[in-house]
Amino acid sequence: MPVHSFQIGNLDCAILSDNSSTSKLRDLFPAVPELEFQKAKTTLNLPEQITVGYNCLYLKQNNQHILVDTGTGQGQLLTSLKEIGLSAEDLDIIILTHGDRDHIGGVLDFPNARFILSQKMFESWSQSEKQEQMVEEFIGLFRRSLDAQELELRAKGRRKFYLEMLPAIQDRLNPVSFEQEFLPGIKLVDATGHRSDHSALEINSQSQTLLHIVDSIRHPLQIKYDWASFIDSYPSELITSNKRLVTRALTSNALIFSSHLTFPGLARLNTSPAGLEWHWLE
Ligand SMILES: [Zn+2]
Repeated sequence: MPVHSFQIGNLDCAILSDNSSTSKLRDLFPAVPELEFQKAKTTLNLPEQITVGYNCLYLKQNNQHILVDTGTGQGQLLTSLKEIGLSAEDLDIIILTHGDRDHIGGVLDFPNARFILSQKMFESWSQSEKQEQMVEEFIGLFRRSLDAQELELRAKGRRKFYLEMLPAIQDRLNPVSFEQEFLPGIKLVDATGHRSDHSALEINSQSQTLLHIVDSIRHPLQIKYDWASFIDSYPSELITSNKRLVTRALTSNALIFSSHLTFPGLARLNTSPAGLEWHWLE
């Protein structure tokens, strides 16, 4: 599986691929009217199909091995880790950004890691009165497209996180507040919208910044036209929080990384008279 190594200040970083798939660009934005979508697609000369990445960020700080999210648990993340010379046992810290299966599927693969997550995510998934809300906010996205049996399967997959996974790692959970530096230069950023507990992550080292926007922006069209994707639970909150993330990235000239952009999913943004421009890192 592909691995992309790079540096932020004095931190060694790598993008590790867990998986990838292809999707029709149109299918990302079912709520956008056809004419509006076609106009945007033609203006920007975009292809019909896109490659969707399932990519994780690895960091090394003071000899600690840090991974952001754990992949699907059924993909190639552990193989990608091997390519940078690490096994699952070597990971010291795992940062969790939200409770979707493609981010928490591998939680039980890392026996020696402690887990950092936002206080908000911790409360959402560990308080019994909130757990079913977290299931509902996800399966609500599929109420119109799936039958009852399929919905129940999705709900079951979701419940596994709080019924099996979190109890298994409860002694290793470390909730932190947004904007709190829980490691030197590293903090979680509130990025509600994709889910109510969704976090982004900012990493600073020697005046360089990496902003991991996780699932907030899965295609540049989203910030050009203020679109939410089919998989975003709270579209208006997503659009507001994406504006904040873009401002943040521009202010610090951050490199941005997004989990589901085509591998490696790294880009720098800048403003031009024509609007926001993406400069992709190969
Ligand atoms: Zn995701």
